[in-house]
Amino acid sequence: MPEFLDTRIEYLKGIGPQKAALLNTELGIFTYADLLEYYPFRHEDRSRIYKISEIREDMPYIQVSGRLSTFKIIGTGFKKRLTATIEDGSGRLELVWFQGINWVVKKLVPGAEYIAFGKPTAYGHQFNIAHPEMDILSEASAQRGLVPVYPLTEKIKTKSIDSKAISKAIQLLLPQASPHIKETLSDEVLEKYKLLRRKDAIQFIHFPPRLQELDKAIARLKFEELFFIQLKLLKQMGNRKEAARGQIFKGSDRLTEFYKSHLPFDLTNAQKKVIKEIYQDLCSGKQMNRLLQGDVGSGKTIVAFLCMLIGTDHEAQSCIMAPTEILAQQHFTTISAWAELAGIRAVLLTGSTKKAARKPILEDLAEGKIDIIIGTHALLEDPVVFKNLGLCVIDEQHRFGVAQRAKLWMKNSRFAPHILVMTATPIPRTLAMTLYGDLDVSVIDELPVGRKPIQTVHQYDKDILKVYGFMRKQVQEGRQVYVVFPLIEESEKIDLKNLSDGFDSIENAFQEYSVSMVHGRLKNENKDYEMQRFIKNETQIMVATTVIEVGVNVPNASVMVIFNAERFGLSQLHQLRGRVGRGADQSYCILMTDFKLSADARKRIDTMCSTNNGFEIADVDLSLRGPGDMAGTMQSGLPDLKLANLAQDSVILTHARQTAQDILTEDSDLSLPKNRPMKDVLIKKHVEGFTWSKIS
Ligand code: ADP
Ligand code: MG
Repeated sequence: MPEFLDTRIEYLKGIGPQKAALLNTELGIFTYADLLEYYPFRHEDRSRIYKISEIREDMPYIQVSGRLSTFKIIGTGFKKRLTATIEDGSGRLELVWFQGINWVVKKLVPGAEYIAFGKPTAYGHQFNIAHPEMDILSEASAQRGLVPVYPLTEKIKTKSIDSKAISKAIQLLLPQASPHIKETLSDEVLEKYKLLRRKDAIQFIHFPPRLQELDKAIARLKFEELFFIQLKLLKQMGNRKEAARGQIFKGSDRLTEFYKSHLPFDLTNAQKKVIKEIYQDLCSGKQMNRLLQGDVGSGKTIVAFLCMLIGTDHEAQSCIMAPTEILAQQHFTTISAWAELAGIRAVLLTGSTKKAARKPILEDLAEGKIDIIIGTHALLEDPVVFKNLGLCVIDEQHRFGVAQRAKLWMKNSRFAPHILVMTATPIPRTLAMTLYGDLDVSVIDELPVGRKPIQTVHQYDKDILKVYGFMRKQVQEGRQVYVVFPLIEESEKIDLKNLSDGFDSIENAFQEYSVSMVHGRLKNENKDYEMQRFIKNETQIMVATTVIEVGVNVPNASVMVIFNAERFGLSQLHQLRGRVGRGADQSYCILMTDFKLSADARKRIDTMCSTNNGFEIADVDLSLRGPGDMAGTMQSGLPDLKLANLAQDSVILTHARQTAQDILTEDSDLSLPKNRPMKDVLIKKHVEGFTWSKIS
C-alpha cells in the first residue's frame, strides 16, 4: 500500500498541477513528505504588536496595527515615492513605497485597519517603514506568533508562490499528515537526549508556539540528520571489519634494524603512538582502514615509511599514491634514500614515466622485485599489477572517490590491502567524522622538537621596500626566500602578468642574486630545472605560483612572502607557510595585501598571524567557508545537510556518533525490536534492499 506521505503534492487542496510542477522543478518538492521536510530558514516574530510610540532605533522587524491614511505621491522620476501613515492612538508612523506604486494604491484601502510589518528606520525625529508587509487586521490573525519564512527561488516568486502560500499548504497538510509521521529513533535514544518526537518536531519547526519549541525541533531534526549518516558509516566500517581479512604483519626485523641504525632523528611521542596504533591494525588479521591526520611538517612520511618497512618482512609490497607529480617526486626522493639504507627497493611511477622505463617497472612489480612503489593516479591503472600488495598509503588533497579506492582493493585478490589515508592539512574533527567517518583515526598532534615556530606578519603593499629590505637581510645571511603570487583560473592572464611583473621587479631589486620563476604553464622539465636550481641554492629567490604548495622541501628557505594574500584560502596559506620552517633557522611568513580587505579576508590574515596550529586554522576555515568549500572536501561526496552545520553542531554530531556506535555495539544488525524504526529508515534509504556496501 502506498504511504500517505508519498502522495504527490498536486493532490493537496489548493495546489493543482501547475503549482505542483513549479514546486517540483523549483524547490524539489514532489510529495507530501517533501513538503513537510521543506523547512523554513527563519521565523518572524509576529507574537507582539508594538505601539507606535514604543518604536526605537535599531529595532528588528516589528509589527504595528492601526488605521491607514490616504496616499500621497511625492517627487517625480527617480525620486518618485508613495507615502501613507498608519495611526494607532499612540502615534503615527510613515509608510513608504518606492516601487510597485500602482499596485499598492490599487490593493490597499485608506481608512481601513491594517497590520504593518517591517523594519523601522529613523528619519529625522520620526520613523518610517519602507515597503511594509500589509495585512487587513481581521485577516491577519492567521499570521500571529512565530511565522515561518521559507527559502524561495526568484522564478517561483514571480509565479505568485510566496512564503505565505507554502506556509498555508503546510498548515493544511499537517493535521492530516501528522498521524502518518513515523518515529525514526528508538525510545531509548529519544529519552537519553530528551529529543522531541519526530511528529512534534516537524510540527514545531514550521509552527512553533514559542522559540523554545523551535529550538527543540531544530535540535531533534539535526540530531536525526547526523545520526543516520553516522549509523551508516559505522555500519559500513563494522561490516568491512567483519568481512575483510587482512594480512598479518606481526614482528619486523627490518624495522628493528632500521630503528637501531638508520633512523634519521628521534621520533616524536606522537609519531610513536601513531605507529603503535597502525601496527596493532597490521597484526589484527583484519584489513586496516585508517586516517592519519597531522599538521604540515608533523612528520607523516617517516610514519608511512616505517609501516611499509614492516610489510616487507612479510613478503608484502606497498604503494604511496600522491595527488600531484611534484609531491610524488618529493616522496620518492625522501623514501628511496631511506629504502636504500634499509636494503629494500623503491621506485617512482607517474603519468610522465617514459614507456621504456615503465615496462621493466611493471614486470618487476608483478614479480615482487619492487618493495615500494610511489606514484600518482597512474598507480591505479590496470597494467599496474602487484605480486602481493599489502599496504596502500594515500597522501591526499582531495579524497579519492569510492571507485578509486575500490580499484586499489582489487589489486590484491586474496587479501584486501591495508589502507592508510594521510591528509595534506588537518581537517576539523566534525568534518573528519563525516567525511572519513568509516575510518579509524590517528592524529599526530605534536611537531618535532627544536622547530622554531614560524613568525607571521601582515604588511600592506605600500611597504614593499621594507619587505624587500628584510628579504635582502635574510639572503645576505645565506637564507633563501619564496615569493608567491596567486593564480586563479578565471583571471589567468592577469595573474600571469602579475607574476611576471612581480618577477621583473624582484629581479631588479635583487640584481646581485639569482631569481627563479616557476608556474603551472611551464613545461615539466623547465619546472624541475628551476626547482633543482633553487634546491641547490644556485638561486636565492623563488618566485612562484601555488605550484610550490605541496612541492619542494628546502630546509634552507626561511622566508615566505605571499602577495595578494587575501585571495588565498586559509588552508592554502597554511600549506604555503609550511614550505618554510623546515630547517634550524627562525623562519618568517609575510602576508602582503592591499589596504582594502573584506571582513573574511581580514579574519583569515589575522588567524594566520596569530597561530601556527593547523587544527585551529582548519576550524576557522570551516566556520568561514562552510564544509562544501573547504580544501580537501571538493568532489568528496560530503552529504547534503539540510539543517545541521558542521561548523556549529559539533556537540550534536558527537552525541549522534556516540549513539550510533553504542547501538551497533549492542545490536550490529539492528535486529532488536526497539531498533526497528532505525532499521526501517536505513532500508528506505537504500531501496535495493538492506544491502550495506562493503567498500566505502
Ligand atoms: P608532513 O607531515 O607535512 O608530510 P614530513 O613527513 O614531510 O611532514 O616531515 C617534515 C620534515 O620534518 C621532514 O624534513 C622530516 O624529515 C622531518 N621530521 C619528521 N619527523 C621528525 C622528527 N621526529 N624529528 C625531526 N625531524 C623530523
Ligand atoms: Mg607530507
